[in-house]
Amino acid sequence: MMAWEEVKLGKPKKGQALIRHTAIGLNYVDTYQRSGMYPMPMPSGLGMEAAGVVEAVGAGVKHVKPGDRVAYGSGAPGAYSEARIMDAATLVKIPRGISDEAAAAMMLKGMTVEYLIRRTYPVKKGQTVLFHAAAGGVGLIAGQWLNALGVRAIGTAGGPAKVKLAKAHGYAEVIDYTKKDFAKEVARLTKNAGVPVVYDSIGQSTWNGSLDCLQPRGYLVSFGNASGPVESFAPGILGAKGSLYLTRPSLVAYTANRKELEASSKALFAMVKSGKVKIEINQTYALKDAKQAHKDLESRKTTGSTILIP
Ligand code: NDP
Repeated sequence: MMAWEEVKLGKPKKGQALIRHTAIGLNYVDTYQRSGMYPMPMPSGLGMEAAGVVEAVGAGVKHVKPGDRVAYGSGAPGAYSEARIMDAATLVKIPRGISDEAAAAMMLKGMTVEYLIRRTYPVKKGQTVLFHAAAGGVGLIAGQWLNALGVRAIGTAGGPAKVKLAKAHGYAEVIDYTKKDFAKEVARLTKNAGVPVVYDSIGQSTWNGSLDCLQPRGYLVSFGNASGPVESFAPGILGAKGSLYLTRPSLVAYTANRKELEASSKALFAMVKSGKVKIEINQTYALKDAKQAHKDLESRKTTGSTILIP
């Protein structure tokens, strides 16, 4: 259950910063945390991504100071707030030319795309890859970034409007997986060769089909569960389907230290500033309407990024 509560903030301690939010990013992970799929100690704040202004810093904080425009997409939940005290190590400065709204809409989703396509399975120019939920927040950023790298991206999306939107954001082909068997379509589009990597954030409902799309020794990058968690399976299936690899990555492990966080956010900001990746904020809600935003996200009504305004 989500409820609005007034809390006293106090002063930031060593290594912390007090940040006043200007825009907050909505992410699918927020729904997993709210529902209990990803258990958290209760009561807890919610929300992983936001932008704002630093109001105060604790001892030892050097990389940001009061007045700086900052954003974050990892760390402890609590972004659904007007202001909060948090670990300053997860904050990066927002470069000039990028609005607070865009920063709040891109940090978690964009750094996820960065690590997935450059570090989990580094794509190469000329390859064909499959990326599910192509019209979503992560999906629209991924299509544009893959296209900029010269990769032929096949996307999946639910319904004709989303197919059209994904096609306008870098995907060479988009399969409506609510109407067609996407594994068969991938076989057709690749002349039965399959793809070297599937980026799958849908989980339960796409698991078998995604394995079927892979070339021998291909990679299944299972990074989310929008349709529910993948059920347990026997590892032998990976052998039977062609000596496949499986990884279940998360952004936290790919931005575990300051160096990785800075490199990831720098690469993202560079893509956005170059104009090759546009951040599409297709829904804006007042923070007090977060419940409705969750309903819309979970019922597949949203496309691109969604922000909440405190
Ligand atoms: P999206 O905007 O992509 O929303 C999720 C989309 O999933 C929906 O719009 C819908 O698109 C699709 N979907 C397919 N089946 C279902 C279903 N049964 N119920 C609901 N949605 C469904 O969300 P985000 O961009 O915030 O995140 C995308 C995914 O990436 C999520 O699964 C998220 O958990 C994951 N993620 C993982 C990270 C990691 O590091 N591991 C980090 C960031 C995100 P359609 O109607 O087109 O099918």
